Amino acid sequence: MRKLTIDLNNVAHNLNTMRNLVNVSGKQVKIMGVVKADAYGHGMLQVARKIEAEGVDYIGVADLSEAQTLRSAGITSRILAWLHDPEDDFVAAIKHDIDVAVSSKEQLLRVQKAAELASKPCQIHIKVDTGLSRNGVTIDELEDLLVSTKSAIADGFVKTVGIFSHLSSTGVKEDLAQIERFELALSMAQTQGVDFELRHLTASDGTLSYPQAHYDMVRIGIGLYGLSPFSDNRAAEFGLKPVMCAEAKVVQTKRVQAGEGVSYGYLYRTPKETTLALVPIGYAEGLPRNASGKAQVCINDKLYTILSRIAMDQFVVDVGDDSVSPGDRVVIFGDCGPTADDLADAAETINYEIVTRIGSRFNREFIG
Ligand SMILES: *Cc1c(COP(=O)(O)O)cnc(C)c1O
Repeated sequence: MRKLTIDLNNVAHNLNTMRNLVNVSGKQVKIMGVVKADAYGHGMLQVARKIEAEGVDYIGVADLSEAQTLRSAGITSRILAWLHDPEDDFVAAIKHDIDVAVSSKEQLLRVQKAAELASKPCQIHIKVDTGLSRNGVTIDELEDLLVSTKSAIADGFVKTVGIFSHLSSTGVKEDLAQIERFELALSMAQTQGVDFELRHLTASDGTLSYPQAHYDMVRIGIGLYGLSPFSDNRAAEFGLKPVMCAEAKVVQTKRVQAGEGVSYGYLYRTPKETTLALVPIGYAEGLPRNASGKAQVCINDKLYTILSRIAMDQFVVDVGDDSVSPGDRVVIFGDCGPTADDLADAAETINYEIVTRIGSRFNREFIG
């Protein structure tokens, strides 16, 4: 009834496209594939297995439980997790070779304790807040953290693998100011004599916008899924191919008279005698309710706007006098007409939110 097709061959294509894009003129920039939040709704394990097979350098997740899920499923790539609960178990992370982002001295102390318990050093990436004001140590507190890190290294509790930060994507001026602060952080680390194998700053947008800021590795999420990090639907321009296609079948059609109210609240009344088609997709599937009246879907290669209210499980489309029958294919977004960006525009949000909030009632079919 509801089908989500995930084309893993396109994930591989997008990974290699990004790899070619950053590795111009002999550069050797590593790629971290970001698979947090169930790979932005695409299926974390399937995507992780695919990019591992394609030789991705690192896998990035938000939290340790995602990292553990990957390890339990047999993923052997290097993994970094960066968002920790005050109760998170770093011992398990160390035992499973999961790199841990350290955003504060308090976290460093917990990592040290865990390393002692695990009798094995923890591999850390120091997260610097260069101006996003989310996690990460501020420049003001960085020196203190570096000094503590140095003694933790000497005691055998930590190995410093990386130092990283994250851009706010506010604008060029703001991003360049963050790059400058990142440079400052790097020079502070150098002054303290703390070495890092991997300096990494940019996600998809920064990677496409600032070649000077690729450093040793870039962290690619949305680009892996073939979507643009920018609001102007430019994915194809970068050679990226969308991975997710959401579709359903028409479950009922009916002829109704002029003046009939359609769906909750009668946002729409039929202007004339017409055919209504019922589609079993609603906001439970991630079709945003506030896209009612604006979102378009594609039935038999023709676009229709959902003029009535999107409900939890279903919506209704006025197909006029077109011949539409139960069983006909309805593309919500994907390979015919509407893109995730189009739906995002209709819902006044970003493509990230559209794919990440895709519902669990779809049957998932993986290609590749
Ligand atoms: C989610 C995330 C990324 C990936 O961002 P995209 O814009 O999807 O490429 C990279 N780094 C961090 C720290 C993140 O949280």
